[in-house]
Amino acid sequence: MITRRLFLTTGAIGLGAATTSPWWAGTPRAETPAGAAFQVVHADAEWRKLLNADQYAVLRKSATEQPFTSQLLHEKRRGNFACAGCDLDLFASDTKFDSGTGWPSFWAPLDGSVGTERDSSFGMLRTAVHCSRCGGHLGHVFDDGPKPTGLRYCINGVALTFKPATA
Ligand SMILES: [Zn+2]
Repeated sequence: MITRRLFLTTGAIGLGAATTSPWWAGTPRAETPAGAAFQVVHADAEWRKLLNADQYAVLRKSATEQPFTSQLLHEKRRGNFACAGCDLDLFASDTKFDSGTGWPSFWAPLDGSVGTERDSSFGMLRTAVHCSRCGGHLGHVFDDGPKPTGLRYCINGVALTFKPATA
């Protein structure tokens, strides 16, 4: 009986994995399944009150800000970039680089701070990046970043707040 149950469970997991990404892909990114429960949850009407119009459009509706419009693009102080929706620290200033794209760019997030999902909107196959605590949309991650990760987290500045290091 126990053996049979184990077999069935394993089979179910195997099937589930096959529909998302192949187990051999070896991707270093943390995949958070769509619809996963987040720690910070608000009703849509609440988010509208908590966020300004631009923040709401990006974080809750996956909009993209106009390039070269974010004040954070040229932020060069030491500190952390946090989620504008829930204040979770997402990116450290020492992983920020100038990608020339017009959006704040980072080559790595802080451990466990973001999740990713496949995004096939606008006829492109991209990997969308969201805050792991509130699920807010942040931007996308691409494979053409600098060393050491080779990743480029292309993030909307309005989805972030900057917290300068105090020391
Ligand atoms: Zn958040």
